[in-house]
Amino acid sequence: MKTVTSLLFILFLFAASFVQAAPVRVVATIEPLADWARMVGGDDVTVETLLAPGHSPHTYDPTPGDMRKTVEASVFLKVGLHLDDWADHIANAGTSRDGVTTPCQLLSLGDWLKASALLPDLSGIEPKSGVVTRIGHAGAHDDGDEAHHHEEGHGTDPHFWLDPILAQRCVDEIARALCVVAPERADCWKAGAARARGELAVLDDVLSSTVASCSRREIACFHDGYKYLAARYGLIRVAVIEEYAGKAPGERYLIELVRDIKRSKLTAIFAEPQMSSRIANVIAQEAGVRVLILDPLGGTPGRETYLKNMRANAAAIRDALK
Ligand SMILES: [Zn+2]
Repeated sequence: MKTVTSLLFILFLFAASFVQAAPVRVVATIEPLADWARMVGGDDVTVETLLAPGHSPHTYDPTPGDMRKTVEASVFLKVGLHLDDWADHIANAGTSRDGVTTPCQLLSLGDWLKASALLPDLSGIEPKSGVVTRIGHAGAHDDGDEAHHHEEGHGTDPHFWLDPILAQRCVDEIARALCVVAPERADCWKAGAARARGELAVLDDVLSSTVASCSRREIACFHDGYKYLAARYGLIRVAVIEEYAGKAPGERYLIELVRDIKRSKLTAIFAEPQMSSRIANVIAQEAGVRVLILDPLGGTPGRETYLKNMRANAAAIRDALK
C-alpha cells in the first residue's frame, strides 16, 4: 500500500510539474517584439510572429493563417502608434480552460511608452541644411490609408524598437503581462526581464562605441524609420530613399536625391531586406556610393535575434561612416 501511495505521489508531482511547465503562448506582430518575449520567457514561452520575413509592417495585410496563430495566445504584442493597426481585428479575446476565460494580455508597446511619457522628444533632430536634406516628407504617407498615417504631421513615430534603451522598458512591460497570465512563474519572468535588460545594455554599449569610433555621423536610409536610433546615438539622418514609407519615390525626387548625394560626403546608402533593393542600387550607381543593409526587423539567417540584428546594423553603420 505504501508503495502504491508513493507511486501516486510521484505521478502527482509529475503531473503538477507538467502543468506548471506548459509554456505561455505569445504572439507578436513583428520579430523584434517576438524576440523580446523570448528573451524574457525563454523555454517558458512559445512565441509566434505574424509578419513573416521579407514583409514590411507599413504595407502588411494579415492572412487567415495569422488569425489561426492568435488563437489561444495569452499575450499579444503589437507596436501600436498606428503602425500595425492591421492586427487589431485578429487579436483574440482570451483563452478558455475548464469554462474559465482568461483575457488575452494585449500590449500595444508604443502606445504604452507614449502614455507613460517614456518616448523621447524627436523634435530638434532634423538635419540642418547644407548637407543632403531629402527628408522633407519622410515618414508621412499619402496613400490615404488612415492606418499608415503615423508620423510627422500624423502622430508619433512608431519605430521605437530600434532604440535598445526603450527596449529595456518594454521587456519589463512584457514581464508584467506574463506575471498576469502566469503569476506562479513571476520570479521566472522578472529574472528573465533582468537578464534581457543586461543584454540590451551591452547592445547599447556596442552601438555607442560604434558611433563614437566613426569620423562622420550622416546616414541615408531607405525609409525614415531610424529617428529613435539616430536620436539615441547622435546620428544625423540626411536623406531617405522612400519619400513615403512603403511607396516608390517619384522621378523628380530621385533625380534631386542623386544630385544631393553626389554633393554630400556620403559613401554609402542603406537598403532594407523588406523592400526592393532595385531603387537603392540605381541611386547608388548614379551617385557613386555603396549600398549597405540596415534591417529594422531581422529574423533572417545571420540576424535571427533582435541582438544579432542590431549588432549587424551597428556593423553596417560603422562600414558606412568609417
Ligand atoms: Zn517603418
